[in-house]
Amino acid sequence: MRRIHRTRQRHRKNFSEGIVNRAIAAAHTGHAKLIEADAYLFDIDGTLFNSRDAVHYQAFCRTLAEVYGVEPSLDGLPVHGNTDIGILRAAVARAGKSDSFEKRLPRALELLQSEFAAGAEQFLPQLCPFIGELIQHLHDRGKILGVASGNLTMVGWAKITAAGLRAYFSFGAFCDGCEARADIVRVAIAQARKIAASAGPVAAVCLVGDTPADIAAARANAIPVIAVATGTFSFAELLAGQPDLCLNSCADLRL
Ligand SMILES: [Mg+2]
Repeated sequence: MRRIHRTRQRHRKNFSEGIVNRAIAAAHTGHAKLIEADAYLFDIDGTLFNSRDAVHYQAFCRTLAEVYGVEPSLDGLPVHGNTDIGILRAAVARAGKSDSFEKRLPRALELLQSEFAAGAEQFLPQLCPFIGELIQHLHDRGKILGVASGNLTMVGWAKITAAGLRAYFSFGAFCDGCEARADIVRVAIAQARKIAASAGPVAAVCLVGDTPADIAAARANAIPVIAVATGTFSFAELLAGQPDLCLNSCADLRL
């Protein structure tokens, strides 16, 4: 069953029940039209692919234990939609060791990346439905494709390379220099518009993501956002954040 819905400003007052019901009612209407843009920014985890291995998770756990002396667990922390630095910060704060966070952060980021690199061969991404086709379609149409991810740069590119998608992306913005996702998206937008500058006026940029944090980051930067329920958040949970287009997966798109 396909569930597709375009949210609109006028729905805002009663979205909690009404929009979800309309979305379900719209389930049988067919394929959704892609939001037109000159450039598309893709989140990584849960948007391009998911992985069943624990390579990234274990890298976090070893970093927390070795650098901060914190229990090696992310259980119960706000991981999905968060950035790598934000996840570390939350884990250290939970352990009551925030005073040491900034001082030890450079070492933590170094170890997080080296631990991921050490296990990278075990990283097994599974592409989300229709992502390969969508990326190829956008590439064939000359669209600018970039990454806007909460991963560290090295980790993000290693994941995308493992997924066989590296050649499609001409730039990426990650969390190394900006912990907040809205800032990451802002940097990515600037990169996209710089690349597109020769094509004329300010390029239209669209974000594709799988979490409410992606929707909020797009809103903070005044660009449209396509939410895909291929990560941990449900279609209804994403719809509540009022994305411009909400999809079960990119397989709902009509190209
Ligand atoms: Mg994600």
